[in-house]
Amino acid sequence: MPGGFVRRLAQARFALLAAAIVFALLVQFAGLAAMPALIGLAAIALAVLVREAALPGADGTSLYGDSAVPAVADRAVEAVISGLPDPAIALTADSLVVAFNASVQQITPGILRGEPISFALRAPDVLEAVRAVAASRQARRIEFFQRVPTDRWWEANIAPLALAGETPNRDRNLVLVTLRDLTPLRRIEEMRADFVANASHELRTPLASLSGFIETLQGPARNDVTSRDRFLAIMKEQATRMARLIDDLLSLSRIEQKAHIHPDHPVDLAAIVREVADGLSPLAHEREVEIRIADQASSLIVSGDRDELIRVFENLIENALKYGAPGKLVELALTREPAIGDAREAIVSVRDYGPGIAPEHLPRLTERFYRVDIGESRAQGGTGLGLALVKHSLNRHRGRLTIESTPGAGANFIVRLPLAKAASG
Ligand code: ADP
Repeated sequence: MPGGFVRRLAQARFALLAAAIVFALLVQFAGLAAMPALIGLAAIALAVLVREAALPGADGTSLYGDSAVPAVADRAVEAVISGLPDPAIALTADSLVVAFNASVQQITPGILRGEPISFALRAPDVLEAVRAVAASRQARRIEFFQRVPTDRWWEANIAPLALAGETPNRDRNLVLVTLRDLTPLRRIEEMRADFVANASHELRTPLASLSGFIETLQGPARNDVTSRDRFLAIMKEQATRMARLIDDLLSLSRIEQKAHIHPDHPVDLAAIVREVADGLSPLAHEREVEIRIADQASSLIVSGDRDELIRVFENLIENALKYGAPGKLVELALTREPAIGDAREAIVSVRDYGPGIAPEHLPRLTERFYRVDIGESRAQGGTGLGLALVKHSLNRHRGRLTIESTPGAGANFIVRLPLAKAASG
């Protein structure tokens, strides 16, 4: 076909031009005779043109059959695939790539039309399933895991595609592979399982201790009045710990249920912080810590849920008193600052001068049940849920928490909340 030859020549023009320049330079400067140079150039030209002709789809004919299947079918397949939201690849029955959409390139950047899919996708299960679907014409669904470039779980749906009006013919059958990223779902499942395991473990420990003491009181210590009083005091402490844990778990689940409802009551942060500080003064007294309030804003009105915000500052100030006690001072600072655009933010910082927190723990502190030192947290009556509650509450209030700490010099927990419109001017 002369038209096809001319097009192939045009497609290969850069390769041929480069070869011609190289041979001309060799003749000119390396003493190569003209005849061998011409023969060499002709051989390269022939190889390039034969390769271009052999590449499926390169000259506009169909990849999956003879020229009787119009190229328009390829374009239709391509158009449909490019419109699919999930990564999708159309393959021939021999697993050659016919078409794919842009999202596929993010997973397998090396994918090329006309090449076997195995060159780009290193997932033996998918390749095997494609072969099976091509042979049986029965759809399949499989899940697979990819380590590169990052750990991801995928679901692959592999289905036979028959062009309308075509009688089934192995050469013309296509296989459609669509992929769905299961990673976020898997992560949530893992988190949920971890959470249930952690919560059960946290409840089981005080429960085991309670059962142990009940048995002792029913048996060996039945008539031992001194032991009984001591054991009852420990049992009360364990029961309180369980109650606190259940309280925190319920609060967390309540906040999560309302995660997308933004509270809209005007509340004064400055008043809340002062009230919480007053309420915690017995604990401060017990720990011999002074709570100092540097109040540069007499009122800071935000749209919020009063009870939740009280819990936020109770958690932060109580932590500062519990973990920062050796520093003897907890400073609360209230300010207002410009944020993005004309909105303004209320900033409350809770700073202690205790041992501080090593940098590797900082990003994980707001995870549920994450504690730097479990023993110390338990000794302080901690549940490991306080900062998780703070983070979730602040998210619901469109606020955020930042934690700064220099080990040995204390920690600073900074809360930012958008000021209510009327108050921000
Ligand atoms: P807990 O109930 O254990 O206090 P939190 O979620 O409130 O749980 O805090 C998580 C962990 O963060 C604590 O166990 C503690 O290790 C660390 N932490 C929190 N606040 C401070 C602080 N002010 N100084 C040092 N460590 C802190």
